[in-house]
Amino acid sequence: MFIHRYPKKETWKELVKRPARKKEEISEIISEVFTKIEEEGDKALLEFTKKYDSADIEEIEVSQVEIEQAESLVSPALKKAIQEASENITKFHALQQPETKKIETTKGVICWRENRAVDKVGIYIPGGTAPLFSTVLMLAIPARLAGCKEIILCTPPDKNGNINPAILYSAMICGVTRIFKAGGAQAIAAMAIGTESIPNVYKIFGPGNQFVVAAKEYAQNYGVAIDMPAGPSEVLVIADQQAVPAFCAADLLSQAEHGSDSQVVFISTDFGIFTETIKEIDNQIKKLPRNQFAEESLNNSYFILLNTVEEAIEFSNLYGPEHLILAIENFEGSISSIQNAGSVFLGNYSCESAGDYASGTNHTLPTNGFARNYSGVSLDSFVKKITFQELSAKGLQNLGKTIEIMAEAEGLFAHKNAVSIRLKNKK
Ligand code: NAD
Repeated sequence: MFIHRYPKKETWKELVKRPARKKEEISEIISEVFTKIEEEGDKALLEFTKKYDSADIEEIEVSQVEIEQAESLVSPALKKAIQEASENITKFHALQQPETKKIETTKGVICWRENRAVDKVGIYIPGGTAPLFSTVLMLAIPARLAGCKEIILCTPPDKNGNINPAILYSAMICGVTRIFKAGGAQAIAAMAIGTESIPNVYKIFGPGNQFVVAAKEYAQNYGVAIDMPAGPSEVLVIADQQAVPAFCAADLLSQAEHGSDSQVVFISTDFGIFTETIKEIDNQIKKLPRNQFAEESLNNSYFILLNTVEEAIEFSNLYGPEHLILAIENFEGSISSIQNAGSVFLGNYSCESAGDYASGTNHTLPTNGFARNYSGVSLDSFVKKITFQELSAKGLQNLGKTIEIMAEAEGLFAHKNAVSIRLKNKK
């Protein structure tokens, strides 16, 4: 990890850049995957599954028998935890149901907006290095609440061709309609284009590694919408003199263990907390089963000393972290200054894992600085908004002249006539 003591503001722009990715190499793989899936469908999908997931499978769709077996393989304690997390995620997302509000913009002119669910959605559940069944809850629950008719799920199989039972169990209780054994770019291509087994969808959701993120971007060439660029996880922690170094270290490591391409940033205004947190990381990392990922991720990461919390928040706004933890005394006073972040965790007890699993907020969040212009997944992500308007004869009389003048000024006389003809012939 790199240490920067009181870096000058001119250097911040360079610092907030994420580690460079092998873009060209990835783009080549992605375009090959899409072309082959388009030309050969399931045959190509099975070949890629063998090549990239080392799984030699015959059936792409998960059978009902596999789903039922999975239920018996998940422990009662895990089922209970999944249920409790689901309830909180449901409560939080159900609150996002909009209320239809009608407005009379001019007398006799009424406008409003109604939500309609995206009919067919595809959710990608990462499974490369960890089976993220929590992501099933984060995507399928809002999809179901929004009223999506078809919710299909793709996730990579393990080497034996199986899917983690907790993923299948979560999919079952959240109303996923069909589940497929497909991972990485090939899964995204299949959902965008459609194969003999996997139906194409209108919108693709879900986080993943660099291949998944790049494939989602590419899928838009096929007329498919995507939720956002949700790639390798990140956290930025701001700690003042009252932070707890052991807690800060645990939070930083909780993101670092995601994968070698994750990045964590620690900013402190207190030298003692700064050095203690670094020591704590050394202590805690040794005990982690995924310490190799965490160590590689720390090589992409950096720790910064700054003078004030205000400066730290200014840096964070420039960085636009996926997750931001404010381990500071006056976090309430800082909330209004936060401009760019996916999800924010306030105080010493709001660990990021709470949002990852069970507090209720969504963990599918923009990474790589996209928190500057994207929101995380919410109920809104699964709906389109249709506008409606109703003009009475009186309403058109009131607004007609304005429309006629504007249409004429744009040289669009048919537009003008659509108003004039009605004003002349009103019943
Ligand atoms: P994954 O399912 O995203 O990727 C695994 C797939 O990658 C494999 O099935 C394979 O098809 C493909 N792949 C691997 N190596 C390849 C290669 N050399 N060439 C072509 N394809 C290849 O699982 P993962 O790798 O464990 O990554 C999960 C990612 O999701 C992590 O980076 C994690 O940080 C991120 N994540 C992000 C969020 C968020 O909201 N932003 C949430 C959870 C997880």
